[in-house]
Amino acid sequence: MKRLLFLSLSIFLLLSGCSFSPVETMKELAQEIPGAEQLDIVTPEETPVAETPEETEKTVAEPKTTTKLPLSGKILLVDPGHGLNSSTATEAIAPGSSEKKRAFVSGASGKNQSEEELNLAIGLKLRDALTALGAEVHMTREGHETTLSNIGRAELGNQLGVDLSVKLHADGSSSSSVYGTSILIPGNTYIKDAQMLSESRRAAECILAEYVKSTGAKNNGVVVRNDMTGFNWSTVPVVLLEMGFMSNPEEDAKMETEAYRELMVQGIADGVLAYFDEK
Ligand SMILES: [Zn+2]
Repeated sequence: MKRLLFLSLSIFLLLSGCSFSPVETMKELAQEIPGAEQLDIVTPEETPVAETPEETEKTVAEPKTTTKLPLSGKILLVDPGHGLNSSTATEAIAPGSSEKKRAFVSGASGKNQSEEELNLAIGLKLRDALTALGAEVHMTREGHETTLSNIGRAELGNQLGVDLSVKLHADGSSSSSVYGTSILIPGNTYIKDAQMLSESRRAAECILAEYVKSTGAKNNGVVVRNDMTGFNWSTVPVVLLEMGFMSNPEEDAKMETEAYRELMVQGIADGVLAYFDEK
């Protein structure tokens, strides 16, 4: 019976697009079904992790007992922006370009946390949420230090052949009254792969819509950028979410709280689900 309910929910998910919030929808549906709150699939944290290949081999003769998770088979890169590295090296902003930028830069800062710290905290939570949904998730860093430059981060995603790379950042402004969220996508100055560009845009639209829906943050839109090393070296779809302004005291304070961080991660995960459901 539980399996049947999960199957029905899964089918419903497959039919939903960017305008839906699949995880929330699952929760709402589950609340309406008596006894369904005991289902394992209600929240990402509680969702069983996909079997490892070794386990599958051992149990190959037995009937299949796990239902396919929504992001099964998807490979994702979560890239918490910045990270500690004292190198002052520079690198070309695009293959073949003579224009160079610093390979490692420090980010914005809030009252009690640096952008590097915030990006990492959200990145680790997002890793867990996407893993619980069945995705194979890779990280550019899982600690405060980083060894990967912006080119290195792009090349990691290329080598892994990820379906999507999600870069996490927070904004800073000289004006403390500026607030809200935006999402950056690569432009076509250096990148000639039309499909990579259009997939990046579609992923960005899905993630931004769900992020705004979940957090209530002000929507500052999708921004095309041709000058970003981490984009120009990527051959896989890539987006960069600016999660909020650390220079705005109210938004900065919100982004310190666990409750708001849960909403941030929920929004990004819902956006990733919406992107793959539409494919
Ligand atoms: Zn940043």
